[in-house]
Amino acid sequence: MQILRSNQAKYEYEIHALVKSFYPAWDLKILTPESVVKDRKILEIPPVMELDFQEDFVKLTVHDSLHNSSNSYTWWNTEQIDDDEYKNVFGRFFYTSLQEETGISLPWGNLTGVRPTKLIMNLLENGESDSEIAAFLREKHFVSEEKISLGIEIAQREREILSTLHYEDGYSLYIGIPFCPTTCLYCSFTSYPISAWKERVSDYLTALEKEMQAVAQMCRGRILDTVYIGGGTPTSLSAEEIDRLLTSLKNTFDFSMVQEVTVEAGRADSITEEKLKVMRRHGVTRISVNPQTMKEETLKLIGRQHTVKQVVDAFHMTRKAGFDNINMDIILGLPGETKEDVQATIEAILVLAPESLTVHSLAVKRAARLSQWIEENGITAYNNTEEMMQIAALGADAMGMSPYYLYRQKNMSGNFENVGYAVKGKHGIYNILIMEEKQTIVALGAGSISKKVTKKTAADGSENTLIERCENVKEVAQYIERIDEMIGRKRRLFHEAALVSDFH
Ligand code: SF4
Repeated sequence: MQILRSNQAKYEYEIHALVKSFYPAWDLKILTPESVVKDRKILEIPPVMELDFQEDFVKLTVHDSLHNSSNSYTWWNTEQIDDDEYKNVFGRFFYTSLQEETGISLPWGNLTGVRPTKLIMNLLENGESDSEIAAFLREKHFVSEEKISLGIEIAQREREILSTLHYEDGYSLYIGIPFCPTTCLYCSFTSYPISAWKERVSDYLTALEKEMQAVAQMCRGRILDTVYIGGGTPTSLSAEEIDRLLTSLKNTFDFSMVQEVTVEAGRADSITEEKLKVMRRHGVTRISVNPQTMKEETLKLIGRQHTVKQVVDAFHMTRKAGFDNINMDIILGLPGETKEDVQATIEAILVLAPESLTVHSLAVKRAARLSQWIEENGITAYNNTEEMMQIAALGADAMGMSPYYLYRQKNMSGNFENVGYAVKGKHGIYNILIMEEKQTIVALGAGSISKKVTKKTAADGSENTLIERCENVKEVAQYIERIDEMIGRKRRLFHEAALVSDFH
């Protein structure tokens, strides 16, 4: 464990995220005078970094125990600045200090948030030109030229796509099906092996139907724009269960204006002709068939328990069933994968020619068994590289796709980003909505999180966006038993009767 000691409890999230970006292998803990430390031994670990906030300066000291030396960086704060500006200048000082210390520049500079395009979108909406936005990102946040172009290109495309949506007066639905054929090594989602829960699926759907009824009431008078059925792997359910789910959905909500219905059929081992037929019949428009990699050994290693051939067969089966909008997800930075493996995966996908490709950088999250596996096997999983990202980008380009959404995660391999590419007209609209937080998303099912987006007009006429969340419990049995409580939480969030006026 590496300790950063600070004499003040401030900017801990940003400091942690930036240090982790420069030193991804560190298990970093920030200690401040307010930290609650259960294990007293931690207090005895000598710090690798120290931050000293004083009235007129901030000093960062980096200790190198190996060479018994230290480097110090100081920002002299002699001007009167408000809290926001202080935070911005500190962010620049902290980034440039670590940049000098390591000799590394990060592609996204000192931006630590997961939604860099949201920042760019807001600037576009405020009437800033491309060159003004580029200068801001370059000078204030040290973003690389390549990421500036990518960010602006995506934000502009997102604006265009969202312009066809009722994104302020409408809403979208997320339905969570938290079951999968098996649990992948890197999984940090709400997912349970279907074999262990088969007997409770019917009860789960009953609870979900009750939640649907309540939500339909709450959303009366609003336009439903997109529906996303994810999880988990919804196609872990049988064809009959999928039929029941989609029938209930269509009977409960008004689908007349719906622009997109996506089903995550992520795992090839869960796809059958019968299930595809049911989904076609109910008007599902977009399907994900996710290989993650086309390398057999890696698939085994990450616990997906399906073969490359099953992915290829499932893709052809989906196409044959009439789907003309198929997405494929891949992950870069999987343990042991080289750039040649990524190239081979991309070439295999090129042959299939899906309409969209989502490129993820592996994020090692605490919840996933992968972190434990990495530790036990002494393997570093942080091996995504610029070159691999480039291979994926070139592959997407060769398939006629352009980047249309982007987000980052904590602990992401190589401090890169996840990028969605699509051919024209086949973008995943829901993906943009969830990232840009432009529209209310009502989420149903175990482990789902609803987001209510409200525009508020301030006294000076400026508009602010307020985002409020409410969560459902993750555990399936708890969700079934406490369904009335989950509905109650939503009612409180959406102030049921006042919903329509609430959003104006
Ligand atoms: S398919 Fe997705 S949700 Fe299911 S176990 Fe794998 S990573 Fe988790």
